[in-house]
Amino acid sequence: MNQTSKIINQAKKEGRKALLESEAKMICAEYGIPITKFKVVPNEKEAAKYANEIGYPVVLKIVSPDIIHKSDAGGVMVNLKTPAEVLSAYNKILENVKKYNPNAKIMGVLVQEMAPPSTEVIVGAIKDPQFGQTVMFGLGGIFVEVLKDVNFRIAPITTDDAEEMIAQLKAYPLLKGFRNTPPADIDALVEILCNTSRLVMDNPEIKELDLNPVLVYQKGAKTVDARIILE
Ligand code: ADP
Ligand code: MG
Repeated sequence: MNQTSKIINQAKKEGRKALLESEAKMICAEYGIPITKFKVVPNEKEAAKYANEIGYPVVLKIVSPDIIHKSDAGGVMVNLKTPAEVLSAYNKILENVKKYNPNAKIMGVLVQEMAPPSTEVIVGAIKDPQFGQTVMFGLGGIFVEVLKDVNFRIAPITTDDAEEMIAQLKAYPLLKGFRNTPPADIDALVEILCNTSRLVMDNPEIKELDLNPVLVYQKGAKTVDARIILE
Protein backbone atom coordinates (compact mmCIF):
# COMPACT_ATOMS: atom_id res chain seq x y z
CA MET A 1 0.00 0.00 0.00
CA ASN A 2 1.28 3.49 -0.75
CA GLN A 3 1.94 6.19 1.86
CA THR A 4 -1.22 8.11 0.90
CA SER A 5 -3.58 5.21 1.60
CA LYS A 6 -1.75 4.49 4.87
CA ILE A 7 -2.18 8.08 6.05
CA ILE A 8 -5.85 8.18 5.04
CA ASN A 9 -6.59 4.83 6.70
CA GLN A 10 -4.84 5.87 9.90
CA ALA A 11 -6.88 9.10 10.10
CA LYS A 12 -10.11 7.17 9.49
CA LYS A 13 -9.20 4.71 12.22
CA GLU A 14 -8.68 7.62 14.63
CA GLY A 15 -11.97 9.18 13.52
CA ARG A 16 -10.22 12.29 12.14
CA LYS A 17 -11.67 14.05 9.10
CA ALA A 18 -8.99 16.72 8.80
CA LEU A 19 -5.49 15.52 8.04
CA LEU A 20 -2.59 17.30 9.72
CA GLU A 21 -0.51 19.61 7.52
CA SER A 22 2.39 17.17 7.83
CA GLU A 23 0.18 14.30 6.59
CA ALA A 24 -1.25 16.36 3.73
CA LYS A 25 2.27 17.36 2.68
CA MET A 26 3.49 13.75 2.73
CA ILE A 27 0.62 12.92 0.38
CA CYS A 28 1.50 15.87 -1.86
CA ALA A 29 5.11 14.70 -1.99
CA GLU A 30 4.00 11.22 -3.05
CA TYR A 31 2.09 12.82 -5.94
CA GLY A 32 5.00 14.97 -7.09
CA ILE A 33 3.61 18.22 -5.70
CA PRO A 34 6.55 20.31 -4.43
CA ILE A 35 6.44 21.10 -0.70
CA THR A 36 8.68 22.73 1.90
CA LYS A 37 11.09 20.52 3.84
CA PHE A 38 9.48 19.85 7.22
CA LYS A 39 9.57 17.82 10.43
CA VAL A 40 7.18 17.47 13.36
CA VAL A 41 9.10 17.89 16.62
CA PRO A 42 8.10 17.20 20.24
CA ASN A 43 10.09 19.96 21.99
CA GLU A 44 11.93 23.25 21.45
CA LYS A 45 15.37 21.62 21.52
CA GLU A 46 14.46 19.36 18.61
CA ALA A 47 12.94 22.36 16.82
CA ALA A 48 16.23 24.27 16.97
CA LYS A 49 18.17 21.14 15.99
CA TYR A 50 16.10 20.63 12.84
CA ALA A 51 16.25 24.36 12.00
CA ASN A 52 20.05 24.18 12.19
CA GLU A 53 19.92 21.19 9.86
CA ILE A 54 17.81 22.81 7.11
CA GLY A 55 19.10 26.37 7.60
CA TYR A 56 17.40 29.68 8.39
CA PRO A 57 14.95 31.33 8.11
CA VAL A 58 12.35 28.77 9.23
CA VAL A 59 8.63 28.72 9.99
CA LEU A 60 7.02 27.06 13.04
CA LYS A 61 3.39 25.91 13.12
CA ILE A 62 1.11 24.16 15.56
CA VAL A 63 0.21 20.54 14.77
CA SER A 64 -3.23 19.79 16.19
CA PRO A 65 -6.22 17.90 14.83
CA ASP A 66 -8.39 20.48 16.61
CA ILE A 67 -6.86 23.55 14.92
CA ILE A 68 -7.68 23.80 11.22
CA HIS A 69 -6.91 27.50 10.66
CA LYS A 70 -3.54 27.74 12.33
CA SER A 71 -2.97 31.52 12.02
CA ASP A 72 -6.32 32.26 13.68
CA ALA A 73 -5.02 30.43 16.75
CA GLY A 74 -1.67 32.27 16.77
CA GLY A 75 -0.19 28.98 15.63
CA VAL A 76 2.11 30.19 12.84
CA MET A 77 5.40 32.09 13.24
CA VAL A 78 7.39 32.92 10.12
CA ASN A 79 10.84 34.26 9.32
CA LEU A 80 12.66 32.87 12.39
CA LYS A 81 16.33 33.58 11.86
CA THR A 82 18.20 32.18 14.85
CA PRO A 83 18.01 29.20 17.26
CA ALA A 84 16.97 31.66 19.99
CA GLU A 85 14.05 32.89 17.86
CA VAL A 86 13.01 29.28 17.25
CA LEU A 87 13.02 28.50 20.98
CA SER A 88 10.89 31.50 21.88
CA ALA A 89 8.51 31.00 18.91
CA TYR A 90 7.99 27.38 19.98
CA ASN A 91 6.82 28.43 23.43
CA LYS A 92 4.82 31.39 22.13
CA ILE A 93 2.88 29.13 19.73
CA LEU A 94 1.99 26.68 22.50
CA GLU A 95 0.94 29.57 24.73
CA ASN A 96 -1.24 31.14 21.98
CA VAL A 97 -2.91 27.86 21.11
CA LYS A 98 -3.64 26.97 24.73
CA LYS A 99 -5.33 30.35 25.12
CA TYR A 100 -7.27 29.93 21.85
CA ASN A 101 -8.51 26.43 22.62
CA PRO A 102 -7.54 24.97 26.01
CA ASN A 103 -8.86 21.56 24.94
CA ALA A 104 -6.91 21.31 21.67
CA LYS A 105 -4.89 18.12 21.45
CA ILE A 106 -1.33 19.09 20.51
CA MET A 107 0.72 16.61 18.47
CA GLY A 108 3.85 18.73 18.29
CA VAL A 109 5.20 21.63 16.29
CA LEU A 110 5.98 21.63 12.60
CA VAL A 111 9.36 23.13 11.67
CA GLN A 112 9.73 23.96 8.00
CA GLU A 113 11.88 25.85 5.58
CA MET A 114 10.68 29.37 4.87
CA ALA A 115 9.90 29.74 1.18
CA PRO A 116 11.07 33.13 -0.15
CA PRO A 117 8.20 35.62 -0.68
CA SER A 118 6.66 35.55 -4.18
CA THR A 119 3.29 35.48 -5.94
CA GLU A 120 0.83 33.33 -3.97
CA VAL A 121 -1.59 31.05 -5.79
CA ILE A 122 -4.22 28.63 -4.53
CA VAL A 123 -4.82 25.12 -5.79
CA GLY A 124 -7.91 23.38 -4.51
CA ALA A 125 -10.16 20.42 -5.04
CA ILE A 126 -13.69 19.73 -3.90
CA LYS A 127 -15.88 16.71 -4.35
CA ASP A 128 -19.04 18.03 -5.94
CA PRO A 129 -22.15 15.94 -5.22
CA GLN A 130 -23.04 15.97 -8.93
CA PHE A 131 -19.80 16.29 -10.84
CA GLY A 132 -17.45 14.46 -8.47
CA GLN A 133 -13.85 15.57 -7.96
CA THR A 134 -13.31 19.12 -9.20
CA VAL A 135 -10.04 21.05 -9.32
CA MET A 136 -9.76 24.79 -8.63
CA PHE A 137 -7.10 27.39 -9.35
CA GLY A 138 -6.72 31.07 -8.48
CA LEU A 139 -4.35 33.73 -7.19
CA GLY A 140 -4.09 34.18 -3.42
CA GLY A 141 -5.42 36.89 -1.16
CA ILE A 142 -7.93 39.41 -2.54
CA PHE A 143 -8.13 37.66 -5.91
CA VAL A 144 -9.87 34.67 -4.36
CA GLU A 145 -11.53 36.27 -1.36
CA VAL A 146 -12.82 39.53 -2.86
CA LEU A 147 -12.80 39.15 -6.64
CA LYS A 148 -13.68 35.41 -6.75
CA ASP A 149 -11.30 35.16 -9.68
CA VAL A 150 -11.00 31.36 -9.72
CA ASN A 151 -11.49 28.63 -12.31
CA PHE A 152 -12.85 25.12 -11.85
CA ARG A 153 -12.58 21.99 -13.99
CA ILE A 154 -14.05 18.56 -13.41
CA ALA A 155 -11.30 16.00 -12.77
CA PRO A 156 -9.49 14.25 -14.30
CA ILE A 157 -7.92 17.20 -16.10
CA THR A 158 -5.43 17.24 -18.97
CA THR A 159 -2.47 19.61 -19.29
CA ASP A 160 -4.58 21.61 -21.79
CA ASP A 161 -7.32 21.98 -19.18
CA ALA A 162 -4.77 23.10 -16.59
CA GLU A 163 -3.27 25.65 -18.99
CA GLU A 164 -6.75 27.05 -19.66
CA MET A 165 -7.59 27.23 -15.96
CA ILE A 166 -4.55 29.45 -15.51
CA ALA A 167 -4.75 31.51 -18.72
CA GLN A 168 -8.47 32.30 -18.32
CA LEU A 169 -8.03 34.02 -14.95
CA LYS A 170 -8.60 37.76 -14.99
CA ALA A 171 -5.37 38.06 -13.02
CA TYR A 172 -3.41 36.06 -15.61
CA PRO A 173 -1.36 39.10 -16.73
CA LEU A 174 0.08 39.21 -13.21
CA LEU A 175 1.38 35.67 -13.63
CA LYS A 176 2.87 36.48 -17.00
CA GLY A 177 4.96 39.23 -15.43
CA PHE A 178 3.92 42.78 -14.69
CA ARG A 179 6.08 45.77 -13.78
CA ASN A 180 8.15 44.60 -10.82
CA THR A 181 6.74 41.06 -10.83
CA PRO A 182 8.79 38.61 -12.90
CA PRO A 183 6.93 35.95 -14.96
CA ALA A 184 5.81 32.92 -12.97
CA ASP A 185 6.68 29.33 -13.91
CA ILE A 186 3.36 28.38 -15.55
CA ASP A 187 4.58 24.87 -16.40
CA ALA A 188 5.25 24.20 -12.73
CA LEU A 189 1.66 25.25 -11.94
CA VAL A 190 0.25 23.06 -14.72
CA GLU A 191 2.11 20.10 -13.26
CA ILE A 192 0.77 20.82 -9.75
CA LEU A 193 -2.80 21.03 -11.11
CA CYS A 194 -2.48 17.74 -13.01
CA ASN A 195 -0.91 15.99 -10.02
CA THR A 196 -3.68 17.33 -7.76
CA SER A 197 -6.26 15.94 -10.18
CA ARG A 198 -4.53 12.54 -10.10
CA LEU A 199 -4.35 12.66 -6.29
CA VAL A 200 -8.09 13.26 -5.81
CA MET A 201 -9.11 10.80 -8.55
CA ASP A 202 -7.01 8.06 -6.93
CA ASN A 203 -8.46 8.87 -3.50
CA PRO A 204 -12.22 9.35 -3.74
CA GLU A 205 -12.49 9.62 0.06
CA ILE A 206 -10.94 13.10 -0.17
CA LYS A 207 -13.75 15.66 0.16
CA GLU A 208 -11.65 18.82 0.07
CA LEU A 209 -8.06 19.71 -0.67
CA ASP A 210 -6.47 23.11 -0.27
CA LEU A 211 -2.93 24.07 -1.20
CA ASN A 212 -3.06 27.59 0.17
CA PRO A 213 -0.77 29.18 -0.57
CA VAL A 214 1.54 27.81 -3.24
CA LEU A 215 4.40 30.24 -3.85
CA VAL A 216 5.36 30.43 -7.50
CA TYR A 217 8.76 31.56 -8.74
CA GLN A 218 10.39 32.25 -12.08
CA LYS A 219 11.59 28.68 -11.81
CA GLY A 220 9.48 26.23 -9.82
CA ALA A 221 6.82 26.56 -7.14
CA LYS A 222 6.43 25.45 -3.53
CA THR A 223 3.40 24.49 -1.45
CA VAL A 224 3.75 26.06 1.98
CA ASP A 225 0.38 24.99 3.45
CA ALA A 226 -1.72 21.94 2.62
CA ARG A 227 -5.08 20.87 4.02
CA ILE A 228 -7.00 17.70 3.20
CA ILE A 229 -10.48 16.92 4.53
CA LEU A 230 -11.93 13.43 4.26
CA GLU A 231 -15.57 12.50 3.76
P1 ADP B 1 -3.22 28.65 8.03
O1 ADP B 1 -3.60 27.33 8.65
O2 ADP B 1 -3.61 29.79 8.89
O3 ADP B 1 -3.75 28.76 6.62
P2 ADP B 1 -0.52 28.68 6.85
O4 ADP B 1 0.29 27.45 6.99
O5 ADP B 1 -1.14 28.93 5.51
O6 ADP B 1 -1.63 28.67 8.01
O7 ADP B 1 0.38 29.92 7.26
C1 ADP B 1 -0.11 31.26 7.21
C2 ADP B 1 0.69 32.10 6.23
O8 ADP B 1 2.07 32.11 6.59
C3 ADP B 1 0.67 31.57 4.80
O9 ADP B 1 -0.45 32.04 4.10
C4 ADP B 1 1.97 32.11 4.22
O10 ADP B 1 1.82 33.45 3.79
C5 ADP B 1 2.90 32.09 5.43
N1 ADP B 1 3.69 30.83 5.44
C6 ADP B 1 3.35 29.66 6.01
N2 ADP B 1 4.30 28.73 5.85
C7 ADP B 1 5.27 29.30 5.13
C8 ADP B 1 6.54 28.85 4.62
N3 ADP B 1 6.98 27.62 4.84
N4 ADP B 1 7.27 29.74 3.89
C9 ADP B 1 6.83 31.00 3.67
N5 ADP B 1 5.66 31.49 4.12
C10 ADP B 1 4.88 30.66 4.85
MG1 MG C 1 -2.99 28.46 4.69
